[in-house]
Amino acid sequence: MEKQYDVCVAGAGYAGAVSARALAEKGKKVLVLERRGHIGGNAYDCLDEHGVLIHQYGPHIFHTNDKKVFDFLSRFTQWRDYQHRVVANIPDPAGEGRPGWRLQYPVPFNLTSLEEAFGPEEGRALGGKLIAAYGAERKVTILELRQNPDPEIAALADYVYEHVFVHYTMKQWGQKPEDIDPNTTARVPVFLSRDDRYFQDAYQGMPLEGYTKMFERMLDHPNIEVRLGMDARPILKEADGPVIYTGQVDELFDFKFGPLPYRTLDFQFETWRDRDYNAPGMPYPDPDRPLRGGGFYQTHGTVNYTVDQDYTRITEFKHLTGQDLPGVTTIVKEYSRAYTGAEGETPYYAIINPENNALYAKYKAEADKKPQLHLLGRLAEYKYYNMDAIAARALELAERL
Ligand code: FAD
Ligand code: UDP
Repeated sequence: MEKQYDVCVAGAGYAGAVSARALAEKGKKVLVLERRGHIGGNAYDCLDEHGVLIHQYGPHIFHTNDKKVFDFLSRFTQWRDYQHRVVANIPDPAGEGRPGWRLQYPVPFNLTSLEEAFGPEEGRALGGKLIAAYGAERKVTILELRQNPDPEIAALADYVYEHVFVHYTMKQWGQKPEDIDPNTTARVPVFLSRDDRYFQDAYQGMPLEGYTKMFERMLDHPNIEVRLGMDARPILKEADGPVIYTGQVDELFDFKFGPLPYRTLDFQFETWRDRDYNAPGMPYPDPDRPLRGGGFYQTHGTVNYTVDQDYTRITEFKHLTGQDLPGVTTIVKEYSRAYTGAEGETPYYAIINPENNALYAKYKAEADKKPQLHLLGRLAEYKYYNMDAIAARALELAERL
C-alpha cells in the first residue's frame, strides 16, 4: 500500500463504503479498491437502456430496526417510503383445465393467505386454531409448524410446506427446507397476522435517488480515494497497515483449502411496454400481452413462483422505486444455481452448513494470523447478512480500529 494511506479497503459495497466513510471521518486516509467498474457492490443500481432504474444484481429493499444504521445512511440519502409486499403465485387447483388461472396470496403466509387458500370460512377457523396454539401476531417458522401434532394444523403445515416452501427452496438451494440452515426459511415465517408486508422493521424504504447515488455521497470525502476496476489482492499482500477485505476469503488465500461453496443467480431482465407507447427502438416482446393499467407488468413489487416455473421470483422495479415512467417497465426473473467459479459468475449466497462453516473456519484461522487483516461483509465472513447488518458491522469495525 502506498504510504500516504492509513487504511486500505478492498470492495466498495456496504461493508467497504460504510467502513471507509466512518474511518475517513475519524481522520484516517482511506484507499478503496474495487474490482468492478462501479461502487455499491451488489446494491448497485442504474438506468437501463429504456430509462428504467434497475438493480443490476437483484432487487434490494432496505429495512432495519437499527436506528444507528438508519441515521448513518440517512446522511447520504432521503428515503421513499416503500413497504415491500410479496405474493405467491401458484396454479389454482380449483381452476383445473382453465389454463392461466392462478391464485395469488401474501407471503409470508398469513391470515389473509389462509382465507385465499381455504376459503373464508375454513380459513378463518384455521386461523383461530393457529392463534389459540401460538398467539396472535406471532411468527412461526415452517419447520416449527410441521412439528405440531394436531392433525388439522399438521395438514395445514403440509399445505404451506408444499405450496410456499419446498419447490421454491429446491429452486433456490437445490435442497429441501429441512436440509438447509433453519435460519434461512425462518426469514419468511408463517405470520399469524393481517399485516401483509414482507418485513416488519421500524425503518424501511428505498433511497430516493437510488443506492448508487447514496454510495457516491458516502464515498465523497477528502480522506477517501476510490479506484475502480482494480483487484485489491496484489496490493493487500504488500500492505503494512490495516486492511479491510470484503471479497471472498477463499480467493484471498488462493483457494488453498479448496473453494467455499456458493449459490449464484442468473438474472433475466425484460422490458415491457404498453401497446400504445411509441418509443423508437423499444422492443415489444409479446404483442398479445400488453401491460396492465398504469404501465405495470404485475400487481406487486415481487411475485414469488413457489410451485412452478424455473425462476424463483419476478421483481418489477417501478413498484420499488416509484419511478414515474408511464407505458414502459422492466422486470427481472431470478434463476438460482450452483456457483462454479467460472469467469463472470458472482457468488451471491453462502451455503451455510456445518461442513462449509468448518472450511470457512480454516480460512478465518489463516486470516487471524495477520493482525492487520479484517474480514468484513457477506463474502468475507461467509454469512447470510442483510444490508443493514453489514452496515452495522462496518460501523463497529471502524469504531474498533
Ligand atoms: P458486496 O455487495 O458483495 O460488495 C463486495 C464488493 O467487493 C463487490 O463490489 C466486489 O466487486 C468487491 N470485491 C470483491 N473482491 C475484491 C477484490 N479482490 N478487490 C477489489 N474488490 C473486490 N439485503 C437487504 O437488506 N435487503 C434486500 O432486499 C436484499 N436483497 C438481496 C437480493 C439479492 C439477489 C442478493 C444476492 C442479496 C440481497 N441482499 C439484500 C443482501 C445484500 O446484497 C448484502 O447484504 C450486501 O450487498 C452486502 O454488502 P457487502 O459489502 O458485504 O458485499
Ligand atoms: N422461501 C420460500 N418461499 C418463499 C419465500 C422464501 O421457500 O416464497 C424460503 C427460501 O428457502 C428462501 C428463504 O426462504 O431462500 C429466504 O427467503 P428470502 O426472501 O429472505 O430470500 P432472499 O431475498 O435473501 O433471496
